[in-house]
This record gives sequence, C-alpha cells and structure tokens, in this order.
Amino acid sequence: MRLLLLGGTAEARELAALLVDAGVEVTTSLAGRVARPRLPVGQVRIGGFGGVPGLRAALAGYDAVVDATHPFARGMSANAVAACGSSGMPLLRLERPGWDPDPAWTYASSHEEAAGHAAGLGGRPFVTVGRQELARFVPALGTRAVLARVVDVPDLPIPPAWRLLTSRGPYLLDGELEVFREHGADVLVTKDSGGTYTWPKMEAARLLGVPVVVVRRPGATDGVPVVHDVAEAFAWVRRAAG
Ligand code: NAP
Repeated sequence: MRLLLLGGTAEARELAALLVDAGVEVTTSLAGRVARPRLPVGQVRIGGFGGVPGLRAALAGYDAVVDATHPFARGMSANAVAACGSSGMPLLRLERPGWDPDPAWTYASSHEEAAGHAAGLGGRPFVTVGRQELARFVPALGTRAVLARVVDVPDLPIPPAWRLLTSRGPYLLDGELEVFREHGADVLVTKDSGGTYTWPKMEAARLLGVPVVVVRRPGATDGVPVVHDVAEAFAWVRRAAG
C-alpha cells in the first residue's frame, strides 16, 4: 500500500508515524509554506502539485490518499476531491473537530468580517489567523495597535502601528497569559482551528475577560468520507490496504 498523505498538520504527522510503524509506505506532502517545517516520519515531498492536473498525474504513484490538511486549507482539499474522483482513487478526509462554541465568542464568516468585529470590540487586537490572511485585516485594523502572531514573517508591508510576533505552537497557558498582558490585548482574533495546540490562548482570553472573535470554518467538502481522529484514519488505511 502506497499512501499519499496531504499534510501540514499535527494529525498528519501522528498518522504518518502510526502507518510507518505498521509497514505502510507513506509519502507526506507539504505545501512548502513555512521556512522550517516540522517533518513527519516516512517519505516527504514539498511543494504544490500544479493544480488538479498535476495532482492527478502524481496519483499514479499511489494506492490511496488521506487529506489531513488544515481545516482552512480548502483549495488543496477541493483539488484532492477533483483529482481522486476522476481517477477512481480512494480518498479519506481527516479533519479535527472545531472547538465547542462558547456563547461568549463572536463568530465571523470571513476574515474581513472578523476584522470588523475586532475593530468594534477593542483597540489592541491580538490577531492569530496566520500570515496568509493578515492583509485582510489591514483595512479595518491598520491603525490599531495589533499584535499579529505568525510562524514566518509575511510578505505584506506591516502597518507601523502593528507588532509582529513570530512563534509556533503548541502553546502553554502561562505563556499565553503573558503575551496578552504584555501587549495589553483587549480582543483576540482566531480561526476555528480546533485541536489542542492553540487552545491555551482561548483559555487565557476567558480568564482575562478578553472578547474573542472566531472565524468560522469554510464549508465541508462534499462526497468524501470524513473522520475526526487519527485512530479512525489509521483504521481506514488498514482496511484500504486489505
Ligand atoms: P490551500 O490554500 O488549500 O492550497 C493552495 C495550494 O497550495 C494548493 O492548491 C496546492 O498547490 C498547495 N498545497 C496546499 N497544501 C498542500 C500540501 N499539503 N501539499 C502540496 N501542496 C499543497 O492551502 P493553505 O491554506 O495555504 O495551506 C498550506 C499548507 O499549510 C497545508 O498543507 C495545510 O495543511 C497547512 N496549514 C494551513 C493552515 C491554514 O490556516 N490554512 C494552518 C496550518 C497549516 P497546487 O494546486 O499547485 O497543488
């Protein structure tokens, strides 16, 4: 069994480790977005495939695909559905659940809407939506004292009022409380990433009484079996391997 694992998440790394241990030939695919990615065990390939045609061509080297990309990486998931569908390739989506909603949170359906909510809620936003989305916060928050936390420095010109904090999870509650206090953050903006790696900021916000704006996940990809944890994905691959 040769498995293509679309990765870039902690779950993908966990699945790769389990499968390699079980003797499955796993190749994890990473987009190449971050300068120093955390590498999984097994084979790794880095970089886009070249859209659906490129992915379809690459599938010739595999027997099944698990799409374990981040819940907000919808372009890659859509390409996987299209390429696997037209090649008859078994495809599974592994997606960690979103966080249980808290009635105190303000949900937004887009990053622009989240920026608008944040502008109404505070003057010193702590924005943790990732480097690729930051430009969408500039129109509403360009003159606010934003603390933007990112893994790698973004390409966009950073407004003079903003401060960048480069770091990568997982995070701990004490450190997160310190970040909020040190910046004087009065609103937190996050994606509904789910999982535990970035949860402590939500706990810190609750403890400090800081309002939270949560960007909703994009809609699910239709027609693909979905599992929500690594053990279920492992079982699916074992079944697919026969
Ligand atoms: P995206 O918008 O869904 O994908 C855009 C393009 O990037 C895809 O069409 C594909 O290029 C390439 N790509 C994305 N994921 C890839 C992968 N695993 N392997 C090879 N090519 C990939 O993706 P994104 O939101 O930029 O996310 C990029 C990567 O970062 C993903 O692996 C994801 O799991 C990880 N990540 C994303 C987030 C987030 O918030 N979006 C957070 C944490 C980690 P081609 O069309 O050329 O194949």
